[in-house]
Amino acid sequence: MRQQPGVLIVEDEPAIAELIAVNLRHNGFRPTWAMDSASAQRELDDVLPDVILLDWMLPGESGLTLAKRWRANPRTKAVPIIMLTARSDESDRVSGLDAGADDYIVKPFSTKELLARVRAVLRRRAPEQVGGVVAVGALSLDSSTYRVAFNDQMLKLGPTEFKLLHYLMTHAERVHSRSQLLDKVWGDHVFIEERTVDVHVKRLREALGASAGQMIETVRGAGYRLTAHVVQAASSAQ
Ligand code: CA
Repeated sequence: MRQQPGVLIVEDEPAIAELIAVNLRHNGFRPTWAMDSASAQRELDDVLPDVILLDWMLPGESGLTLAKRWRANPRTKAVPIIMLTARSDESDRVSGLDAGADDYIVKPFSTKELLARVRAVLRRRAPEQVGGVVAVGALSLDSSTYRVAFNDQMLKLGPTEFKLLHYLMTHAERVHSRSQLLDKVWGDHVFIEERTVDVHVKRLREALGASAGQMIETVRGAGYRLTAHVVQAASSAQ
């Protein structure tokens, strides 16, 4: 099963937070709620969401301050932020976007609009979350149906192998170091050893089978690359 995108709602008004959470849940998202900056920070330290919905006016630190801090932090900088606010002045909108927000919604908003904006930032930042088919050579991956096929033969992959393959396919022909893959595929789990990448690459090759498995090349001293142009090795170096 494809994992439901996690959405952190940072909002001090319970009625609004509840309304947003219910709508997100009904539309296939996994909402969590933080009512102030301190609990929002705790949530983020615990698990990184796929999107943050951030209220501007919060007790303690403002949403604007939080957005700036999260953008400046390497761990949180790539998480899309949508600011929620009653302020509608253009200057406020500009400072929200300057602080690193990806989008801006003025209260009162329709939940339909909110969902559309959440999907839009996810599409821009994390295409594997919203579906679509990627193809490299004879290999194709459909993230909306969670299917992988080689020459139209269905293949069975575990969730991590699926994510890893999706990343390699959407960034094909480039060499990725183990630490880059850890960062992009595992993301949040800073304590995972680089050797873990090798284990999952091995499993991925096995799941892909002899022909498609060759598309994932080990680049000595550098990392891994997925290529459509498999070169048969002259000697069996491995
Ligand atoms: Ca508020």
